[in-house]
Amino acid sequence: MTVHGGMLRLQTPGDGATIDITDGVAQVVRTAGAERGMVTVFAVGSTAAVTTMEYERGGVADLRALLERLVPAQGDYEHNRLNHDTNSHAHQRASILGSSEVVPVEGGRLALGTWQQLVLIDFDDRPRERTVVVQVVT
Ligand code: ZN
Repeated sequence: MTVHGGMLRLQTPGDGATIDITDGVAQVVRTAGAERGMVTVFAVGSTAAVTTMEYERGGVADLRALLERLVPAQGDYEHNRLNHDTNSHAHQRASILGSSEVVPVEGGRLALGTWQQLVLIDFDDRPRERTVVVQVVT
């Protein structure tokens, strides 16, 4: 087993910003020269998530609305009370979606569907610089 490392750094405005990172991950896979294996994509931090979706305006808006219904930004949260913080909703949304994805690599390409992109979602309530760790395992 060989692990090739890569990293993406992104500046985000926060507040649910949804960024297509598919090309960046594919670039790491190309650089690794991987034909077959898997790639793990991991968002560093407890208020960001990595998931897959159809990346288009409607889908982004619907996911944002769903998460606002499930975990309202304006809620009564222990995290905010105990830590004099304002972003408990961001932590909870990130936990629900999860911080990572594993995508198979076949023929040197990500085995994603045509309408399936890898996205980073930054839920924090302020702009952030984000790191996404990408590891290609062959
Ligand atoms: Zn917090």
